[in-house]
Amino acid sequence: MYDDQQRIKRRQALAVLAGLGAAALWPGLASSQNVKTKLILLGSGGGPRPRKASSASAQVIVIDGTPYVVDCGNGVARQLVFANVPLPSLRHLFITHHHSDHNADYGTLLQLAWAAGLATRVDTWGPPPLEAITRLFFEMSATDINARIADEGRVPLVPLVHAHELNEGGVVMQDERVKVTAALVPHPPVTPSFAYRFDTADRSVVISGDTSSPFAKAPDDKRSDELIRLAAGADVLVHEALYLPAVDRIVASVPNASTLKQHLIDSHTSAEDCGRVAQAAGVKTLVLSHFVPADDPAVTDQMWIDAARAHFRGTVVIGKDLMEI
Ligand SMILES: [Zn+2]
Repeated sequence: MYDDQQRIKRRQALAVLAGLGAAALWPGLASSQNVKTKLILLGSGGGPRPRKASSASAQVIVIDGTPYVVDCGNGVARQLVFANVPLPSLRHLFITHHHSDHNADYGTLLQLAWAAGLATRVDTWGPPPLEAITRLFFEMSATDINARIADEGRVPLVPLVHAHELNEGGVVMQDERVKVTAALVPHPPVTPSFAYRFDTADRSVVISGDTSSPFAKAPDDKRSDELIRLAAGADVLVHEALYLPAVDRIVASVPNASTLKQHLIDSHTSAEDCGRVAQAAGVKTLVLSHFVPADDPAVTDQMWIDAARAHFRGTVVIGKDLMEI
């Protein structure tokens, strides 16, 4: 795994030296020589159950020192601290979908970043009801927020945060550092759910969010290849991954076993199909993350790698918390 990281960093360095990357796709961005885009996995485990082995789903793309956070699973603020990303520098925050392993700490991150010194605008993006979630969180936290404004002289938090609801794919936002594009992905029954693509002057990074596989027969037989189109030619695709042979062990101990099993199979993507998606999209590096199961010692890194490599000829990385790619 360490070797994979080293290889990726070397490849990045060579790509920058060669003047390659996304600059040609997005000529409005600054020269690639001046930009450094890094992806940090903050939480690599799938599912809302707190674990010792890995944190809940979240990642940050740091572009020229500005963090763009994707998903806010439980513990995201502390994971950002571990990743040495200053919380007051928070600027843009993206939610893929409203499952608690992706949004549980959405409001908490905003509140704690503000408590850590955030005093500038933050834009948040995601499916409805993001505006209501934002408003209700601040309402719920008004005692603390108002006390800190009065006692500690902080600027009011609520006017800093601007929530934007997304209902369809397309360009989400663009600034001098990045163009962000979303695609609708199937993750029944949570609709809409999004994948996001970040194109900067030196890299293109795609986060799948949670999605079923375009190569699996969905219950309504409506397959979606929007993620493949979104990820076309990307440098890095971070894809959620399900290890099918272990599904029965995952559900064995829960009372809602049959319902959970069906959800896992219908709404997520097997590691084999992650490889198929990466190959179809022509990405350079596939990063598996959001592992289900997240902490089954019987499923080794090598088993995940072998499953994904069966259909993908590029680099496969097994995601770990705080891994920088
Ligand atoms: Zn989900």
